[in-house]
Amino acid sequence: MKIDDHLLVADYVSQRQTPNKGNSFDPKYLIFHFTAGRGCQSSVDWLCSPQAKASAHLVVGRDGSITQLAPFNIVAWHAGKSCWNGLTGMNQYSVGIEMDNAGKLTKVGSKYRTWFQAEIAEDDVIQAKHKNESDMGFWHAYTDIQIQRANDLASLLVETYQLKDILGHEDIAPGRKNDPGPAFPLTNIHSGAFGRSDDTDDDYKVTVEGLNIRKGPGVEFDPVAPPLSLGTEILLLETKDRWSKVDVKGPNDIEGWVSNKFITSI
Ligand SMILES: [Zn+2]
Repeated sequence: MKIDDHLLVADYVSQRQTPNKGNSFDPKYLIFHFTAGRGCQSSVDWLCSPQAKASAHLVVGRDGSITQLAPFNIVAWHAGKSCWNGLTGMNQYSVGIEMDNAGKLTKVGSKYRTWFQAEIAEDDVIQAKHKNESDMGFWHAYTDIQIQRANDLASLLVETYQLKDILGHEDIAPGRKNDPGPAFPLTNIHSGAFGRSDDTDDDYKVTVEGLNIRKGPGVEFDPVAPPLSLGTEILLLETKDRWSKVDVKGPNDIEGWVSNKFITSI
């Protein structure tokens, strides 16, 4: 993927202009969101309808397809009332990316439901504590290709526009917004885009509350111990595409596999 005249270019990118946009500007931040919507097409349609009075620069579908609704040098309306680092009204300073994801789920019996009463398969559910909330909750998982696109977009946008930081809507509008939520690996994406001081370091930590540690590299393997808490320090023993074998630091001799989405290099 590349950026040509403030437009994203790749064979999985399509362009559709939204009327919901403002002046030209020089972006300094990247803000991630979830759509909390019924699907990519309905979210794109909504963000392109004048009555929405809302938009984003990009919408990333669960299949990895991307729709661009406004050039990166034109203000889009994704942040609303928001502030960060002394700045207010973050639309004027940021590129906004919406990820197609239903958001927070409710468990009814053994089923997981979205706010619009769609059922989500258990494999697509992550149990985690939001950093701005006190209790564990259920969240719609992002797909692997969505996370890969988010990583690639973050690196490309940081490099192209010399962005200062990558944030979630929940960071700039806490209390009012909870997206992109704990299922989104924002810490990893941040490290990937801004680089690490020592790539060969094997010291990692857990970036989510309640990370399952399993007998093998997959959700089909049973846990070997209670879930790891946020910030637990681990030593990387072996890494595969999506899973890593780790040794939990501390007095208990716990070794097992964790998802790469929820660990980051220290
Ligand atoms: Zn948002």
